Amino acid sequence: MLKVAGKAFLAGAFTITAFFSAGHAEAAPKKFAGDLAYQHIVELTEEIGPRVAGSDNEKKAREYIKKELSNIDVTTEIQPFNYTRRGAEKNSANIIGVKDSPKTEKQIIVGAHYDSVSTGKGADDNASSVGVILETAKALEKRSLPYDIKFIFFGAEEEGLQGSTFYAKNMSKQEVDQTIGMINLDSLLAGDQIYVYGGSGEAGWIRDLALDIAEKRKIPLQTNPGLNPEFPAGTTGDWSDHAPFENLGITIAYLEATNWEIGAMDGYDQTVKHGGIWHTQNDNLDFLEREFPGRTKEHLNQFTNILTELLTEIKKEAK
Ligand SMILES: [Zn+2]
Repeated sequence: MLKVAGKAFLAGAFTITAFFSAGHAEAAPKKFAGDLAYQHIVELTEEIGPRVAGSDNEKKAREYIKKELSNIDVTTEIQPFNYTRRGAEKNSANIIGVKDSPKTEKQIIVGAHYDSVSTGKGADDNASSVGVILETAKALEKRSLPYDIKFIFFGAEEEGLQGSTFYAKNMSKQEVDQTIGMINLDSLLAGDQIYVYGGSGEAGWIRDLALDIAEKRKIPLQTNPGLNPEFPAGTTGDWSDHAPFENLGITIAYLEATNWEIGAMDGYDQTVKHGGIWHTQNDNLDFLEREFPGRTKEHLNQFTNILTELLTEIKKEAK
């Protein structure tokens, strides 16, 4: 609308103030990290809905992610797989977007599952992570990095880590050797605190890098405090898509929001106010925004910033 403001200015019909306010009103709204991720969550949860593995809705989500990747400078492939669940044969697929660096064969895998359970809409678990990865892939598309990044959206996580297990099982030894690390994201919206986990000892370096980045940016990212001896400080359980990669000896990091200081102190009871949100009717944007005002967008902003910077900073550590 600069055009209209210009005309008005030439005609002398508006004061300078009117000119500026017209210009201001038409300026593109300022975009914050996480805004795009939020839009993806709306599409996945309000337009599509629950995305049960093997269902038409899971397929719709797959088509949506594929379409979004086609707008980003990555090459996309679909990796279909079958599995048997309670005696029934089911089909799903992983979606793999590759940001190729011509300089190297090394790679980082960033992954999140896009399926959900049938209860709720899977906003927290796990449209949140799909949104953050899609936004991050877009933010990095013009960046030249000294490794490839594989953005992998796993199918059928909720039915036993099917997609990530299938992908990991089909990695060649060479691909495993060339993989610097795997970063898993799962359930970023609801939990009271934001966390990053990693392996123990030297296998914790990606977690530690994420914690350093967060500290510099004054983002209150923390790690599992280790109150429960079953899950030592800094680490977590094997209940999400990082596990099949960790089993191959690949260094992992895992981002999530939850609360390790309540309930059985196993990271399962995400919130003081409502306990666990995942796999309940409460896992939808309306509930989360009503009960935890400001939290969803804040977490998306924080995780998008951390992931984007982590993926550019890893190069300093990668050997
Ligand atoms: Zn999940």
